[in-house]
Parts: sequence; structure tokens; C-alpha cells
Amino acid sequence: MSDIADRLQEIRHRLTQATARSGRKPESVDLLAVSKTYPVEIIQEAVEAGQILFGENRVQEVTLKQPQLSGKLQWHLIGPLQSNKVRKVLPLVQMIHAVDSVDIAKDINRIGGELGLHPKVLIEINLAAESSKHGFTPQAIREQLEALYELDRLYIQGVMCIPPFDPVAEKSRRYFTQLREVRDELEKFGGAPLPVLSMGMSHDFEVAIEEGATIVRVGSAIFGSRKAVA
Ligand SMILES: *Cc1c(COP(=O)(O)O)cnc(C)c1O
Repeated sequence: MSDIADRLQEIRHRLTQATARSGRKPESVDLLAVSKTYPVEIIQEAVEAGQILFGENRVQEVTLKQPQLSGKLQWHLIGPLQSNKVRKVLPLVQMIHAVDSVDIAKDINRIGGELGLHPKVLIEINLAAESSKHGFTPQAIREQLEALYELDRLYIQGVMCIPPFDPVAEKSRRYFTQLREVRDELEKFGGAPLPVLSMGMSHDFEVAIEEGATIVRVGSAIFGSRKAVA
């Protein structure tokens, strides 16, 4: 087995154990393999090991890599999206994780309509209100949810977060709990289900699963450390 296949197997095993610990089914969590910065040869190894769901944070990379990989793969865009890339990326990805303003949501809605698509999106929540990070603060999303729900082409599926980095996984727990609580509150307030919680990365995905994650975004624990910062 390749290194990638080995690591994927280990991650899937840990994922299953984390679901068992929290009384959940393994199928209730999707493993999104974050392949940003890794070349297609490496990604192909993951494909051969049975991985079909991949995440990239730049439109450019999705565009370059997709045609070079075989198989029925699914792609999610996890990075911030600029208006001028919306038309290009919508037909290529099954989900956009990081809707971080009403303006970009409007662009996705309008262009989705022009292309005959109903884009699936998540709302990015900036829990710690870090100025270096994208997303709605919990307060801002309460005020702007209605404007998002007016955009009738969008399938708003849930929320995502990138908490402040701490190598100690337990330190992320309170942010994951908080994201789940924000989601619960938005469901009540908006009157529509938001089943998807995209949270947890290589160093803290098990804690995220214990707190209810339905998509974990795991890169370096599968593919090895990234040389270039993406
Ligand atoms: C890079 C990235 C990940 C994966 O990070 P790892 O620490 O390599 O698992 C997850 N989510 C987002 C938004 C990212 O940009």
C-alpha cells in the first residue's frame, strides 16, 4: 500500500472511532480530503485508495487538477471566493464552504441562476471575530440571515468555521460547540434546517466529530505537510 493509502485508512479508522464514542454512525461524517498544493499524482493515490471527495481552496487549482484526474470525483471549494471566479467554479464543485458576505452570496445566486444551477453553500462563521479571518460573526449572521434566505437559487446547507489555530486539539472544542450552537439558533430563527457542520482539520477532527461535525476537512494528515503555504 502507498503511504497515502495507509494514512487514509488510519484517518478513516480514527473517524469511525470518534463517531462511535459520540454515539453516531460513521456515515454521518464525510471525510473531505483537502488536496490544496498537492500535485495530481499524489491525489491520484488517494483516488485509488477509494477517496472520492476532495477540497481545494483556490478556483485555479480545481480548474487545473480536475481534468487530470479520472473517476467520479466530487469537489468542494473551501477557500474564500471572489466574484470574478464564481462563473468558472460553480459548474466544477458540489459545495462552496466559505460564503462570507451577502455580496458574494448574491453573486453565487445570480450566476447560479444564469447557469441553471442551484449551488449548495455553507455560511462561514468567524467565531472568535478575528480580523484576519473571513466570515460572519455570530452577531452579523443573525442580522443578515434573512437577506441570505431571500436568494432563492441557493441551497444553504449549514455552517463552517476555521477556529484560531492551537496544536492542542482540545482547545478547539469550545469553538466547535459554539458553531453547533450558532447553527441551532439559526435553524430556529430562520425556520429551515441547516444539517451540515463543516469543522475540524488534521489536528482536531476527532474533537469536531464529538461536537457534531458532518464534514471534516483533513489535508496534511493524509497527504503530508505542505511545503508552500496555501
Ligand atoms: C488547508 C485547509 C484545511 C486542511 O488543513 P490541514 O491542517 O492540512 O488538515 C481545512 N480547511 C481549510 C479551510 C483549509 O484551508
